[in-house]
Amino acid sequence: MPNINSFDILDSEIQKASGRPTVLEALWDGDTQGWFLILNLYTETGKFFWKRETRQHLGTVSFGGDIRLFNGEVPSWPEAELTKEWGQKAASKYGLTFYFPSDSEPDDDCPNWTQRHLAINCADCNKLIIPTDSEYLPKDICYNCHLKREFRNKD
Ligand SMILES: [Zn+2]
Repeated sequence: MPNINSFDILDSEIQKASGRPTVLEALWDGDTQGWFLILNLYTETGKFFWKRETRQHLGTVSFGGDIRLFNGEVPSWPEAELTKEWGQKAASKYGLTFYFPSDSEPDDDCPNWTQRHLAINCADCNKLIIPTDSEYLPKDICYNCHLKREFRNKD
């Protein structure tokens, strides 16, 4: 699973994939080390009735850890900025669709490309999300917007 840290690496991973690239997907995921982005490529093989779409994992974009969150600064997400830039480049080079549902902040409640029909738009920020099944959280907004509302209601 390569760590993608330049457009050239992303580009060579796309070229290694079999089939015609149709969609490049960027989704957030997190572990104990912090947030990172997973890049997947959907490709199409065959024609007409024999058309098949496959999803291939290309690699991750990780800038290592959420230590910046504890420095008391507003966290910024350069990996999101770079992924956006590389995705747009790939879109114009290959004529594919670049799908990055949460391109300014980490969120792992976003639908992947094939789950879009199950998703709703967050009532506050309009981002695509899969509604939470938690009974303690509102279902019409994303978790980040929920935190913002909580913060505003504090005083
Ligand atoms: Zn939101």
